[in-house]
Amino acid sequence: MPAQTILLYPDPRLKEISAPVTAVTAEIRSIVRNLLDTMKAHPGSVGIAAPQIGELKRIIVVDVSGHKRAGNHHGLLILLNPVIRERDGEQIGREGCLSIPDYTARIRRAARIRVEAYDFSFSSICIDASGFEAVALQHEIDHLNGVLFLDRVASLKLDLFPRKNYLPQLARPKE
Ligand SMILES: [Zn+2]
Repeated sequence: MPAQTILLYPDPRLKEISAPVTAVTAEIRSIVRNLLDTMKAHPGSVGIAAPQIGELKRIIVVDVSGHKRAGNHHGLLILLNPVIRERDGEQIGREGCLSIPDYTARIRRAARIRVEAYDFSFSSICIDASGFEAVALQHEIDHLNGVLFLDRVASLKLDLFPRKNYLPQLARPKE
């Protein structure tokens, strides 16, 4: 399966609430493969959520293992219907998003979370995550609820940063 086109802010589909997965059908397997291929096509990315490729289903893929801020982690996580059951502490860090390619932002998140979800064989699993992996999980789960990091920026003036290669007049030509 080829990598899919990433929906870019302000595409209205990024603000939708995604629907729960009820079984691992051929369609769900295909969406997961597309998510993996799309993530692979964007080196440096640590996660992606199904709505970012236009599939409004509660599926996320997270893999922080290749990132310099990784710390403790679970490697590749493919999670269906993930829910944050517990959150503890706080951390503030810089986040980017494939759907908002021209900016990063400083965002406040829980330091530790417990996530319940179904895995790719539809068995229920529970993951305790901390640090950068916990940030990635919170970021991707937000996508399933139509929430972007822009919605969590405390101050657009102080906490939002153009990426280094940002060229406002050239970055997004109108089609
Ligand atoms: Zn994102």
